[in-house]
Amino acid sequence: MLPTIRTDWLTAAIDKLATISDAPAPAVTRILFTPTELAGRAFIRQLARELGLAIREDALGNIFMRWEGAQPDLAAVATGSHIDAIPLSGKYDGVVGVIGALEAIHALQEMGFQPQRSLEVIMFTAEEPTRFGLGCLGSRALCGQLSAADLRQLRDKDGRDLDSVRQEAGYKGDLASVALPSGHYHAFVELHIEQGPRLERAGIALGVVSSIAAPATLRVLVAGEGGHAGAVLMPQRRDALLAAAEIALAVERIALESLSPNAVATTGLFQVLPGAVNSIPSQVKLEIDMRDTHLETRDGMVTAVQAAIHEITQRRNTTAEVQLLNADPPAVCGAEVVAAVNKAAEQLHLSHMPLVSRAYHDALFMAQICPTGMIFVPSKNGYSHRPEEYTSPEQIAHGVKTLALALAELSLSASQPVSISASQPVSESARQLMERLENQSVS
Ligand SMILES: [Zn+2]
Repeated sequence: MLPTIRTDWLTAAIDKLATISDAPAPAVTRILFTPTELAGRAFIRQLARELGLAIREDALGNIFMRWEGAQPDLAAVATGSHIDAIPLSGKYDGVVGVIGALEAIHALQEMGFQPQRSLEVIMFTAEEPTRFGLGCLGSRALCGQLSAADLRQLRDKDGRDLDSVRQEAGYKGDLASVALPSGHYHAFVELHIEQGPRLERAGIALGVVSSIAAPATLRVLVAGEGGHAGAVLMPQRRDALLAAAEIALAVERIALESLSPNAVATTGLFQVLPGAVNSIPSQVKLEIDMRDTHLETRDGMVTAVQAAIHEITQRRNTTAEVQLLNADPPAVCGAEVVAAVNKAAEQLHLSHMPLVSRAYHDALFMAQICPTGMIFVPSKNGYSHRPEEYTSPEQIAHGVKTLALALAELSLSASQPVSISASQPVSESARQLMERLENQSVS
C-alpha cells in the first residue's frame, strides 16, 4: 500500500503559515521569538494536535511532536526542519520539512500503519542566523555543540540576550537540559527544498543527499604601515592591501589545487583602512569561507591558507592575526537512512539522484547524534531566501510520500543505532584547529 498525500491540505497549510509574517505577501519574514514567530509556532502545534501527536517543547523552544510507536522504549526516528524565515524570504524553506513531515505522519496513519519505533517531528528553533547571528541554534544545542553557557552569551542587535528573550517567549526551563545524548534517536531524515537548480535542470523529482558540506571561517587582520601615497617611496612600503590581495588569490589557488570537486573557498569580506585614495592601506580585514564534504580536505585548506598567510605577510613585511570563527564538521549521511530513502523513491517510481547539500541545515548537526539523511525537492530556478521561492504542490507531495515511506521503514528497523563515533575525531579536529589558531598571530 502506498501513502496518499492531501495536496490541497498541504498547500493550504503552507499558504496559511506564509500569512503569519512580518512582510507583505508574497514575501515572508518570521524572526525568532517575535510575536509573529510565536504565532507560527502555535499554528504548527495546532496541526500536530489535530494528528493526535504528543507535544514536548524544550527550554530553547525546539518542538517535538511524537507519534508513539508500539515499542516506545526504542530510540525514536525523527524528522523535521524549521519555520523561521529571514527577512523578505519565501514560504517553502524549512516549512516544507515541518508541515510536510506532519502530512507524512497523517498519510501513514491513514494507511493504518503501526510504527514500532516512535516517530517524532521536530520543529527546530532558529535555523536562520537572523536574530542572534548564529544559525541552527536549536539543532546545535540539541546535539551538544552549544552549551548553556554558550547560549547565555548570545545577544541580538538590540543587545537583548537570548536567555531573557526565550523566557519572555515562555521557554523557561534549564538550558542545560536541551542537549540530547547520542543514541537518543535511531535516525533523522529532513525533507527540504533544494535551494539550488540541479534537480530542476535534470528534470528529477528527488535528491537523496549523500553528504552535507560545512564551512570553516577565518577572519584575518593584516597590518602594514600607512602613509602618504605621494611621500613614501615604493621600496619603503608595507602595504597591507597588497598582502591581503595575495592572500585572496592564494585562497582561490588552494581550493583549486585541493582537487576535490566539492571544495570551495571564498574571500567574501575585504575591508581596507583607512580607505582613501591618497593613503597607503595600513590595515585590511578579510573573512574567508572554506567548504568541502570531507573534513580532511576542508581542514587541509584551512592549514594551507594559514601557511600562505604566514609566507605572504613575512615576505611583504606585514603582520597578520588569524582567528578561526567556526569550523563545523561536514557530515556523511547514514547508510541506513540513505537506503530507506532510495527504497521509498523506487517503490513510488519517482526519479531520484544523489546530491551533496551545500547549505547549512539542521541535519548537519543531527548527524552528530544519529545517522542522518535528507530528501531534496526541486526549487524553481534554484531560488531561495527570496519571495520567488517556489516548489509545486505535486513536487512537495513527491517528497512527502517518500518521507512517509522512509520513516515507516526506519521505524521498523530493529538494528542498533549505527555507531557514530566518527563525530568524535571530527569535533576533536575542530577543537584542535581552534586551539592552534587561538592567540595565533603570524608576523
Ligand atoms: Zn532551511
